[in-house]
Amino acid sequence: MNAAIPIRLDDGCVDSPVLRERGQREVFCGLTGIIWMHRKIQDAFFLVVGSRTCAHLIQSAAGVMIFAEPRFATAIIDERDLAGIADANEELDRVVRRLLERRPDIKMLFLVGSCPSEVIKLDLSRAAARLSQEFLPNVRILNYSGSGIETTFTQGEDACLASMVPLLPVTNAAAPTSLMIVGCLPDVVEDQFARHFKALGIDQVQFFPPRNSRALPAIGPNTRYLLAQPFLTDTARALESRGASHLPAPFPFGVEGTTEWLRAAAEVFGVSSEVFDSVTAPSRERAQRALERHRTQLQGKRIFFFPDSQLEIPLARFLARELGMQLTEVGTPYLHRDHMKRELMLLPKETQLSEGQDVEKQLDRCRAAEPDIVVCGLGLANPLEAEGFTTKWAIELVFSPVHGYEQSADLAELFARPLIRRQKIAAKELACN
Ligand code: SF4
Repeated sequence: MNAAIPIRLDDGCVDSPVLRERGQREVFCGLTGIIWMHRKIQDAFFLVVGSRTCAHLIQSAAGVMIFAEPRFATAIIDERDLAGIADANEELDRVVRRLLERRPDIKMLFLVGSCPSEVIKLDLSRAAARLSQEFLPNVRILNYSGSGIETTFTQGEDACLASMVPLLPVTNAAAPTSLMIVGCLPDVVEDQFARHFKALGIDQVQFFPPRNSRALPAIGPNTRYLLAQPFLTDTARALESRGASHLPAPFPFGVEGTTEWLRAAAEVFGVSSEVFDSVTAPSRERAQRALERHRTQLQGKRIFFFPDSQLEIPLARFLARELGMQLTEVGTPYLHRDHMKRELMLLPKETQLSEGQDVEKQLDRCRAAEPDIVVCGLGLANPLEAEGFTTKWAIELVFSPVHGYEQSADLAELFARPLIRRQKIAAKELACN
């Protein structure tokens, strides 16, 4: 049996200089999180209070659901609201009443702020409090901002989860130690992790957000939480204000990340290293074998990350350590040193890190680095492809199931596929000439 030897953590990139930039940025806004969150909390509804642009973004990114009742919509702020002719609060109350009359299945309603609602200073927290008085206990009404002003697209999930933390029921100090897994995960991945924890003998495990808004996990001083996503700064702060404590770990991407993430929980719950090894060995070995074929494709290839999802540092660690890729620049919108510490310790010392963006300067660095593949947002991908670069859309890495052992090879394939496609195009062009 293959023992899961704890990986050696040295200082890696912890003290490496970080290039900080504050200039023009090319990222999606926080509304984008609705696309994966509406699938997760199955009795929730996301009502964006925004413009036709916001409606168009959500509709085109999430796709039109034909067979199911949608779980998101946009209350359009029109010219009358913007000009102050109509009372936007009255209009909003009318929309919410009509929606909740028609959809008794909705048990949690999020009023999601946008750039236009911020510009007209529509106070959605007061609207949520006002409407809650009318609709509680049947429907809980919360609010958060998904505005694109000064945020990046994964911050929508962070703001949404943080808004739910005050609702979590409290456990008392005598309650047994429990584990909370924090961050939206596809159900299939959540089920895999739940099986691993059960096999390790860790029974008190809860996932946040839950699949049903009525099944909110309890929280208290005996709650230990593991972050499943690296972009949950505000949520983490809110959880700690309710007494929970963070378990530092790398994020569960790839075999190493998943093993160390599970180990962080196993150590707190007193699982012996023998049990840990025997429970994780089959999955580790299967995942390592599945990674082999992608290693041939990716080894030695040079990759450049534009800052977009905040997944960049954990993904760079996985690609460098488990697949042998070379990191040219690893950009991240925000660098949370505490949450990222274990990841930074595992990155090659010479990695160029950057935080924030000045897009034109970064494009120049990217062109100079001549990477084999560039990870970036949709707005940059097409122009870079036209210049001959191979690109990977960052947003796809958030939509796809990529956490855990079983998805390690799928995650590697997301990077291998564009390179293979580029090779095929090049071979075809050669044959035609
Ligand atoms: S919230 Fe702002 S950035 Fe996002 S779609 Fe609406 S207007 Fe555009």
